[in-house]
Amino acid sequence: MFTQAPLHKMLKEIKAAHWLGKMTPFRIFGNTYYVGTYQSCCHMIDTGNGLILIDTGYAETAYLIVDSIYQLGFSPYDIKYIISTHWHGDHTAATAALAGLSGAKTVIGRDDFEKAKKYLTHDILVDDGDTLTLGNITVNFMHTPGHTKGTISMFYEDTDGVNTYRVGTFGGAGHNTLVPGKYDFEGAREAYFESIERLKKEHIDVFIANHCWNNDTYLKGKKLLETGENTFVNTNDVWLGFLEHYKRGLENIIAQENA
Ligand SMILES: [Zn+2]
Repeated sequence: MFTQAPLHKMLKEIKAAHWLGKMTPFRIFGNTYYVGTYQSCCHMIDTGNGLILIDTGYAETAYLIVDSIYQLGFSPYDIKYIISTHWHGDHTAATAALAGLSGAKTVIGRDDFEKAKKYLTHDILVDDGDTLTLGNITVNFMHTPGHTKGTISMFYEDTDGVNTYRVGTFGGAGHNTLVPGKYDFEGAREAYFESIERLKKEHIDVFIANHCWNNDTYLKGKKLLETGENTFVNTNDVWLGFLEHYKRGLENIIAQENA
């Protein structure tokens, strides 16, 4: 089940740790790893022919991502692609540093390219239905506008040699850009509802987050590291609950405006 507000639970749990702090990195499933901070997700895929990063986080936490990659036994020099789910700095600001270090190609949704120039000029622009293949992994992109105009979501199959699971993420769920005066583009709310309906049709086995509170990344990771129990797999119900929660959240905002 999806439950909201684990952020507060999480912050209580980590006590004094600053939310930009380094989270102990871990393997989520197969070739998919968590190398992000408490606040901003950064996922790493080992494709067998180089690494892909999904988002990086704030500029000042770039060194934490590098440290986490080394801690897992990989090298940041092997990053081949860095995908930005959307243009905001909490997802892209460290990308320039990491791409500069590794020579990785940077990837973003076409409609977020211009605004992302605040942080970097991306190399590859993605449209709905595009794919990116590296080594054993093919990432399928879906254009899911709403939070920003160019938000991209992605899905790929990963295996641990025994099970093959479909991994997926929604590239931007926040309502902060869906209120008057804050819209990223005209028609953002309508686009957001349409994106959620499309995303609900995607079955995923392993739901990876855009922010840790989307799927309780921290507590799931802690459990995995401490007990070996993997609560990231078979999470399609969490995925659907998360999408429904965010849909209803926007409906409530609209209802309050009209009250
Ligand atoms: Zn954002």
